[in-house]
Amino acid sequence: MTTSSLTRPPVQSSRQLRRAQTRKATRAATRATPEAQGRRLTEIILDAASAQAAAAAQATALAKAQLAEAEVQAWLKDMDARLEVIFAHPEQNLGEIEEQLARSVKEPLRLLAQRAAQVKANAVPYHCPECQGPLKQQRDLCRTIYSRFGPLTIWRRYGFCPRCGQWHFPADYALGLGRKAPASPYLQEVSALLVSKMPAEQAVLVAQRLGLDLSRCGLHQEAHRQGLKAQQWRTQFVGQLDTWEQIQQLGRAAAQGPPAPPFTLVIEIDAWDIRERDDWGKTQQLRQQGKKPERWHWVYMATVFRLDHRGQTAGQRAVLTQRGYAATRLGVEALSAQLYREALARGLGQAQLVLVIADGALWIWNLAQDRFPQARQRLDLFHAEEHLWAVAHDVYGRGTPEAQAWVAPLLQQIRDDQTVAVIASLAELKPRLLEAQQKTLQTQIEYFEHNAARMKYKEVLQARKACQEGKATEEQKPLANHPVGSGAIESACRQYQCRFKRTGQFWTTPGDEALMCLETLWRNGRWHQLDPHARSQAALN
Ligand SMILES: [Zn+2]
Repeated sequence: MTTSSLTRPPVQSSRQLRRAQTRKATRAATRATPEAQGRRLTEIILDAASAQAAAAAQATALAKAQLAEAEVQAWLKDMDARLEVIFAHPEQNLGEIEEQLARSVKEPLRLLAQRAAQVKANAVPYHCPECQGPLKQQRDLCRTIYSRFGPLTIWRRYGFCPRCGQWHFPADYALGLGRKAPASPYLQEVSALLVSKMPAEQAVLVAQRLGLDLSRCGLHQEAHRQGLKAQQWRTQFVGQLDTWEQIQQLGRAAAQGPPAPPFTLVIEIDAWDIRERDDWGKTQQLRQQGKKPERWHWVYMATVFRLDHRGQTAGQRAVLTQRGYAATRLGVEALSAQLYREALARGLGQAQLVLVIADGALWIWNLAQDRFPQARQRLDLFHAEEHLWAVAHDVYGRGTPEAQAWVAPLLQQIRDDQTVAVIASLAELKPRLLEAQQKTLQTQIEYFEHNAARMKYKEVLQARKACQEGKATEEQKPLANHPVGSGAIESACRQYQCRFKRTGQFWTTPGDEALMCLETLWRNGRWHQLDPHARSQAALN
């Protein structure tokens, strides 16, 4: 059985209540004489006002959050009744016990949360939260906030600050409630987390299953609001490095504590594209003007980790126990600043060696040169190999034994750091080709020429082999763990794409940037920066 005192109270704000009462009064009044109608209306309004005043007085006098004895008894009775039903049904398992106990405890928790919030609101000093000056024209107003336990009605004292020229609700600041946000800080945070992981229409169903009453629209709005908050935090975080003194200070802070054993810091950089609603609805018009609407834009990404944080699972799968991310739609400069800050936080100042690994994109190496001039640069080996295969397919045909025979020694030469020989082989091929093929080949030759200095794989591959054979020297042991490919950033890009590049998805720059910022905050293990109540759990690496 369920008890009446524990059933969910009507979810109505005082304004809705007043409107309903007025409608009822109007209906009654239309059936009476004009004088009687007027009297009845006045009575109803006065009754409502005195009920409100009594509720406000009772709420603002509350000094302790507790349940009355009768409420506790009602809850225990309700819980017993639910358990009895479960015991009477042998087919109901632990899942049913979990469900029913959670439901049973929700209303007592709602009452306690409402009262605790009220006590907290009552204790807030009555002055302007911005200038700390006194507030005038004291009044009380109630507000309904949706919490993890259901709707909470909270009365707050408010007043006018003559200095700021604004009305203020000091309790709202103390409780972490936004001016217009109807959700509690916990629900705000959960909305942000859910929507950064999945589309809002799915998130709303997941939230419901978890017992949280969130609407699709509310979820989306709240996630965006939290995303903007995350961006503000990120701006501040990155901006901590605007002066040389600040950088020095950060370096000193990072160097505190016992000296760390020498380590290598790996930075991997890449980009992927996202579809946005540029010139939405103007496609036809643009096409008529001979222009093509551009919908795909680059998202720039990087990841940074210490090599000694890389390990293997029992199933031999490579894992990183800690790593940092930077991701942005706001251009290479924005990525550069975010990545540099992240690298400093992950030990850039202390690393014995910094290694940047990426494919051959020019912007990446410019960024690396600019921000990490001390770093060793390495071209992703698999990208280099792909370029050779492209030539083989172009000249000898895709999948032919000739292509295979031509490419095999060159692949080995790349692994032996003989890039010069590879370039020579490509150049030899050139006179035998058609003009169009020559052009493609020239591009590939230039690719290898530009990246020759970054194509040093031999010592790493040799060290790996020596380790496998148990013959590695002390110098070779750490080298064997060096990556030759940029798999870490490629997997990171894929993970972001799983959320941001779904079929039929279109974004706006403010929308995707805010959400991406949330995702990055979570991955970097700084989620609690969004809301102090959300103590960070281990980042999902
Ligand atoms: Zn003020």
